[in-house]
Amino acid sequence: MKRAELVFIPTPGMGHLASTLAFAKHLLDRDDRFSITVLVMNPAFAPTNHSLVQFIAASDTRVRFIHLPQVDPPPKELFFKSVEKFITEYVENYRSHVKEAIINHVLSASLPLAGLVVDLFCSSMIDVAHELGVPSYVFFTANAAFFGFMLYLPTRHDQVGIEFRETDPESVIPSYVNPVPPGALSSFALNKEGGYICNVNHGRKYKEADGIIINTFSELESHAASSFFNDGTPPVYTVGPMIDLKGKAPSGDNQAKHEIMKWLDDQPPSSVVFLCFGSRGSFGEPQLKETALGLERSGHRFLWSARLPSRDDGLAKPTDAENLEEILPPGFLERTRGIGMICGWAPQVEVLAHKAIGGFVSHCGWNSILESLWHGVPIATWPLYAEQQTNAFQMVRDLGLAVELKINYRLGSGVLVMAEEIENAVKCLMEADSEVRKRVKEMSEKSRQAVIEGGSSYASLGRLIEAMIANVTVPARKSNMW
Ligand code: UDP
Repeated sequence: MKRAELVFIPTPGMGHLASTLAFAKHLLDRDDRFSITVLVMNPAFAPTNHSLVQFIAASDTRVRFIHLPQVDPPPKELFFKSVEKFITEYVENYRSHVKEAIINHVLSASLPLAGLVVDLFCSSMIDVAHELGVPSYVFFTANAAFFGFMLYLPTRHDQVGIEFRETDPESVIPSYVNPVPPGALSSFALNKEGGYICNVNHGRKYKEADGIIINTFSELESHAASSFFNDGTPPVYTVGPMIDLKGKAPSGDNQAKHEIMKWLDDQPPSSVVFLCFGSRGSFGEPQLKETALGLERSGHRFLWSARLPSRDDGLAKPTDAENLEEILPPGFLERTRGIGMICGWAPQVEVLAHKAIGGFVSHCGWNSILESLWHGVPIATWPLYAEQQTNAFQMVRDLGLAVELKINYRLGSGVLVMAEEIENAVKCLMEADSEVRKRVKEMSEKSRQAVIEGGSSYASLGRLIEAMIANVTVPARKSNMW
């Protein structure tokens, strides 16, 4: 039996590390011919949190971690100009360390190297793979339609040579069913400070990889899936949904988690709307007030993860709101006692799995979307950052799988989402027999079928594994394969 080693290179930061490790575990659980080495970069600002790494290291000896030395981050000002450009440059600064670690610790070992699995911000590491003469696979943590957008960027750039503008007409992007308005594009597409061009370069680079691995399933993104055929794109492997590694890792605040779950146990089935906005979602006081009013007027029970922006201009994670009496409308907490609960970080996957949850107001991070579909909970869209506007657009317009609260909202834009908009969206979201709810339930079934034997993602992962094993000795041939 042929055995081989893979080197995983995640972007630093909890979200990327967690998704990468989830995939690493998924691969190892499926096929014991692989061993995996994960190269861990330090986060640029936050202190390194190794609890997840320690948890995996202790629970799975087939995953080895190599902690790379600290490198200098780019100037802080770049972070505020373009987060994507900042991360891209920071990762590029790790290139020589990555190459050295592979030469010293992986190539010297007995197993052959089957390739590098690089995160979407780590496309510069595809060059390291070229230099070492091994295959590279992009682990794309967003969805297939957005991967299509990344491929569209260099094609469009070669024609027009300039970033998108708010006044542009809708863009016909092959991986989306409907033309996409500029308001539904990621902020980086409009960014003149390096954010746009660095993503054009990522899109170009992805085409040099030997395969693209995406946490999605073909039943959900059939349009995007078929848009990749016959256009020189590397083989795309849809291997999801992969859900909830973090939920299994030791949680910091078990007491809060216990209280949330106990409160949900006391609520009627499908009666609670859950509001949660990802790892970086937070709102200032005026928006929290509007949200409170909207929730109260909707008349529905709610579980609301309400967090405030960090005090350092967004470099650190948001903080849990503490002085809620002062922030929220007078008497709100008293009036909603018993029908509403406000929390900080929520055990999202467990919450979505609870029978009391009837709807989810979400920032439309891709993991959140997959988690809510898995549990058959419909979403009302309230995108904030990254590719969430495009995700919201796709879920509402292309797929009919979500209720529109907002599509073109951007965090930091100064725009307030008014109580009335929230009230109306929550009422619509919580309708018992809506078409959206029915479609989401059907998609939930399909998501579960996709990953079991005979399912589309199960088969796609099998094809990826065979390609990886074949590529150990045989040079990669590029063709599309699902
Ligand atoms: N999450 C959570 N509790 C929270 C906020 C987020 O458990 O209060 C988890 C959520 O379940 C998901 C991840 O954090 O797995 C967020 O990933 P997503 O891609 O949705 O958004 P991002 O944080 O990358 O913006």
